[in-house]
Amino acid sequence: MLLKLRYYGDPILRRKTVDVSPEELLSSEFQEFLRDLAETMHAEDGVGLAAPQVGSEKRVCVAADGETVHVLVNPRIRGRSIQLTCDNEGCLSLPGLQAQVARHERVIVQALDPQGHPIEIRAKGLFARVLQHEIDHLEGVLYIDRAEPNTLVWLERKGEDEVDRVPVELAEVKRVFARRYHQGKSREELSFDPPSFQQASQIPSSGGGDERRG
Ligand SMILES: [Zn+2]
Repeated sequence: MLLKLRYYGDPILRRKTVDVSPEELLSSEFQEFLRDLAETMHAEDGVGLAAPQVGSEKRVCVAADGETVHVLVNPRIRGRSIQLTCDNEGCLSLPGLQAQVARHERVIVQALDPQGHPIEIRAKGLFARVLQHEIDHLEGVLYIDRAEPNTLVWLERKGEDEVDRVPVELAEVKRVFARRYHQGKSREELSFDPPSFQQASQIPSSGGGDERRG
């Protein structure tokens, strides 16, 4: 079953998630939810998807490493390279937007697999970026919170394979999302701003890169 996506402004995207208990994990309902999460990621053409993006407060996400989809339960980053790389990022909860984000080049992630067995993933490059993006979601953090200054753009399709990158201020993005995805809701019912968090070190933009949506 495809799950309904939640969009920027929805308060659930700004809440910290809660760990999944062993009993809950093994329940047929939760196993089905995990399959739905992966199915929804594929349907939306994403490379990752976290539970809050489909309205769940559980600490789970899916992340693609090429053709392999990892289902991560209660994931946590246990190791980070000192080296950072900057590249374009997007998010299924913020359609049409992209920004440059500095991420650790390598990370070590510990989690449980869908059967509850401990796993450890050593990731680098794009997969490491996806994992950091998804695990941020589980803390209520969005990539725009970590974006390099003045790199946020709208992607506007101009033709077959031509895309315009139009710089935009975050204040304007909030206005557009309130109008486009949360019509009829008052500003008090929406939540755009991040919880407090440790900001990634700022490094100069390196430019280039494909669109990455998580
Ligand atoms: Zn995302």
